[in-house]
Amino acid sequence: MELMTSGEFARASGLSRKALRLYDELDLLRPVATDPGSQYRFYDPAQLEQARLVAWLRRLGMPLAAIREASQAPPAQAAALLTAYWDQVEAETSARRELAAFLIGYLSGKGSAMGSTAMNKTEGTLAIRYAVQSDIGLQRDENEDAAYAGERLLAVADGMGGHAGGEVASAAVIDALKPLDTQVPAGELLNALDHAVRQASRTLAEMAQADPALSGMGTTLTALLWSGSQLGLVHIGDSRAYLLRDGKIFQITHDHTMVQTLLDDGKITAEEVASHPQRNLILRALTTKQAYEADLQLREARPGDRYLLCSDGLHDAADAASISTVLRTVADPDQAAKELIRLAIEGGGPDNITCIVADVVPAEVAAPVPA
Ligand code: MG
Repeated sequence: MELMTSGEFARASGLSRKALRLYDELDLLRPVATDPGSQYRFYDPAQLEQARLVAWLRRLGMPLAAIREASQAPPAQAAALLTAYWDQVEAETSARRELAAFLIGYLSGKGSAMGSTAMNKTEGTLAIRYAVQSDIGLQRDENEDAAYAGERLLAVADGMGGHAGGEVASAAVIDALKPLDTQVPAGELLNALDHAVRQASRTLAEMAQADPALSGMGTTLTALLWSGSQLGLVHIGDSRAYLLRDGKIFQITHDHTMVQTLLDDGKITAEEVASHPQRNLILRALTTKQAYEADLQLREARPGDRYLLCSDGLHDAADAASISTVLRTVADPDQAAKELIRLAIEGGGPDNITCIVADVVPAEVAAPVPA
């Protein structure tokens, strides 16, 4: 057997002499002989095939430890190791592709207008039919509520602070959320919502710094963000989200109010809430001064589910039983939303009223709903 010098072996295998030295040290590709005096390395020509395999696996990006295992294994076992490695690369790439697509959409910012329209969206086997309605009510000069309904995002914000401050705050927070109305990977729903809400909080603080007249403004926020059958919910303040499932209605948000805390602590009864003097005192909201934590939940959407997002102008003015009846009996989301506004007006309409009704339906059922 005629041995090859490391220079000859490097040329024949396409590996550099530096790489050969490293692979020797890592026990990845050992020379058959090393001259004790000169430390020259000698290789068997039969090692060329293993050397070329190492070079190929390096080009694939395989880690050295995995290459050592694969290049020393019999071909069938090496093939199995390579298959497993590549499956893992594909899975990681797919997750990164989704995240990149979301970030590109998020950073380039996609907006669309709010309106009292019904629309559809399709996502895998589920689709959402939704409608949004907002009304100034009977006793206010301005509508400080803001809402957004897009392909994947539904949001209601109830501004406070008066002198246009409330209107500014609710609109700013809705604007901060709009870029999320893109393909957010299911695993990123809560991160994305959390990030957007923190961003919104900073925006409010900056606006108040630029214009001190806005320093008293704030807003509630209740929003749902969809990804396939996964649903992210972010909530702060006293707007609410309800779920109608299998004919039963559930309030899936917890009011951040003084009366809710007193109720939770058993200090007042449910009947006393409506007449409590501090009924409107909100303990947590997005404000210009303090960064309160919002509640975050991850939920599973099911066909047949109906969601209601509303400002307190609805749930304060209309009783729970009437709201529930409308949600259970009025099939069309747009009609249901209009009916809910009517309930609040009948209840005196003391505040701005905003509601979004969204139905989860199998994708093939969803047909365009006229505006
Ligand atoms: Mg309100």
